[in-house]
Amino acid sequence: MTKTLLDAIREGPLLADGAMGTQLMIAGLEQGNCGEAWNLTHPERILAIQRRYVDAGSDCLLTNTFGGSRIMLNRHAHADDVVAINTAAVQLAREAFGDREGYVIGDIGPFGGLMEPYGEFTEAQVLGAFREQAKALVDAGADAIIVETQTSLEELSLGLTAAREAGAACVIGSMAYDVTLDGSTFRTMMGVDPERAAEFMEEHGADIVALNCGTNMDMERARHAALRYAQVTGLPIMVQPNAGQPKLVDMKVVYDETPDQMVTGVVPLLEAGASIIGGCCGSTPDHIRAFRKAMDQFRTAKAVS
Ligand SMILES: [Zn+2]
Repeated sequence: MTKTLLDAIREGPLLADGAMGTQLMIAGLEQGNCGEAWNLTHPERILAIQRRYVDAGSDCLLTNTFGGSRIMLNRHAHADDVVAINTAAVQLAREAFGDREGYVIGDIGPFGGLMEPYGEFTEAQVLGAFREQAKALVDAGADAIIVETQTSLEELSLGLTAAREAGAACVIGSMAYDVTLDGSTFRTMMGVDPERAAEFMEEHGADIVALNCGTNMDMERARHAALRYAQVTGLPIMVQPNAGQPKLVDMKVVYDETPDQMVTGVVPLLEAGASIIGGCCGSTPDHIRAFRKAMDQFRTAKAVS
């Protein structure tokens, strides 16, 4: 890799990948099973998913480690495999790029519980779990760490601290917003609005401010969030919206926003200043391929104008 991720986005926007979780289901993972363990038991399936994203044009891949912290893995009796699972994930993403240049973003998702006094976990336990995961990802060669699908500033700060301490070359904080019932605005489940989140992430050492997933956060809402971030921080912005809203069809969760529908939001996001664009739940290699085309056309149009 000749350029760091942060240097690369100074030169132009990058394309991330689409969903991993929904792709794992398609590949045969059953609801409630441990997708991260597949990094060890079914590496060829993870590699196949990530190669499809690289073929579609992704410049960045998130590692298959959303639930790769000790607290999450412990629920599947894989707590002893934290380092092995996270190390393998980085190696698989790197392998998926093959000869192509690309950035491996080590993924840290929520620990999946509540901290004291509301829940059973101490802050020290959560920080310890994030530290262990972040160190494994960085030691394996991740180009960045993303602390994603965050809803509370307390947990976010522990993730950012762990990523910084691990020596990540680039630290990304990513919030999940829900549109309010009256549709007028959006905030996280824990009541954090985008301005507060962006300020907090900058204060806590994030290099990139991001948003992903959420409820009713389509491409247009993501653009609003990006604009609200830009009002309070000069940090680069990353967005990964879902492919529409989850619907239950035949007891299966489906996302029905097509690549054609979702891609209409790409240029407005670029115009709003987004530096990295990808997709969260329900997005597929076909969505990413459509994004690639739109981003390339945008760049060409800018170059000639
Ligand atoms: Zn999602």
